[in-house]
Amino acid sequence: MDALLIGTGGDFGWPQDGCSCASCLRAAAAGIRRAPGRVVVDGQLTLVPGTPPRSPNGRSAHRVLEVPGGWDITGPDGSRLLAAAAPGAVPEPPDGTARFDIALLDLLASPAHLGLLRARGLVTEQTRVAALYTDHRISSQGEMDRRCALWRATAGQDGQVVSTVERVSGPTPASEPAGAVRPHRTLIIGGARSGKSSEAELRLSGEPSVTYLAAGPWADEKWEGAGGEPDAEWAQRVAAHRAARPAWWRTEESVDVAAALRKETGALLIDGIGTWLAAVMDQAGAWPDDAADWAPQTGAADPQHLVAARIDELIDAWRQTRALVVAVTDQVGSGLVPAYPAGRLFRDQLGWLNQRLAAESDLNMLVVAGRTMILPA
Ligand SMILES: [Zn+2]
Repeated sequence: MDALLIGTGGDFGWPQDGCSCASCLRAAAAGIRRAPGRVVVDGQLTLVPGTPPRSPNGRSAHRVLEVPGGWDITGPDGSRLLAAAAPGAVPEPPDGTARFDIALLDLLASPAHLGLLRARGLVTEQTRVAALYTDHRISSQGEMDRRCALWRATAGQDGQVVSTVERVSGPTPASEPAGAVRPHRTLIIGGARSGKSSEAELRLSGEPSVTYLAAGPWADEKWEGAGGEPDAEWAQRVAAHRAARPAWWRTEESVDVAAALRKETGALLIDGIGTWLAAVMDQAGAWPDDAADWAPQTGAADPQHLVAARIDELIDAWRQTRALVVAVTDQVGSGLVPAYPAGRLFRDQLGWLNQRLAAESDLNMLVVAGRTMILPA
């Protein structure tokens, strides 16, 4: 089966005529032109958003099934194609559907849906996955290529043929994801609301098996406000984060990050190292109440000693893990020195911990204002 991608853009193509958004201007400057989405299957069946697939000469021997959000097409030779019906549509084949050889999806609408299709066995390592309906929802072609590589998909281009026989022909895709070596341990560093958690979730969206580890404190009475009462505002934040994650991801809430690193073999998202360290220092009673507590202590019962042991255990598990792991951590102390000893201690500890984790990571990224930067190895 061949799927000729005549157009790979959204309803109005990309760049969109008359649109002066940064994405469209950037695409125009780069000479990119994507026509509105349109696909021809085996030279016989035309897919256009908003209408059922049709055969101009009426000779198509393909079996076409409508599924919620898309089309399930079987060729005369039994090869199978899943296509999103239109920009924003998310095809959801019913249970019992056979696996597909080609999947043409709107990866900007719901990248995590690709992970779900993989989890259901409908998209496998043999399935050619290409993005359709790409438009100014993405900032640039480079960002699209970057994401598609993470998701083991190809950012479809106008004129490209996606085939079950020869992998992909036509214009050479800007990135060739399949078989690319993915970083085994990724550390994502950023300030508050920098977009670091979103980047972590995005990176694992195409994965069929993801465990989300909320590394404490989480939405219960353990995190107290200034008056010792449960912090309702924090609980709300945690609940909102949870609701935004794909529903089929497993969520665990634990301070034992080292155990998760040792146990997991699928994808593991740790969010985050800063809250983990705060919880570990809390458990060890390591928060100094005043400057006098700065004096170094010795012995196994020393709170700082307990914290150091937990950090060593974490680094060791991070180094040895078999999981595809992405951890989020906070960039602390860009200038202002905390006014209290506890703040200074936490800042120092997290800064040192970040350095040690980064030294043992395959990929380190800094996220600023939703923009990602790869840090040098
Ligand atoms: Zn635009």
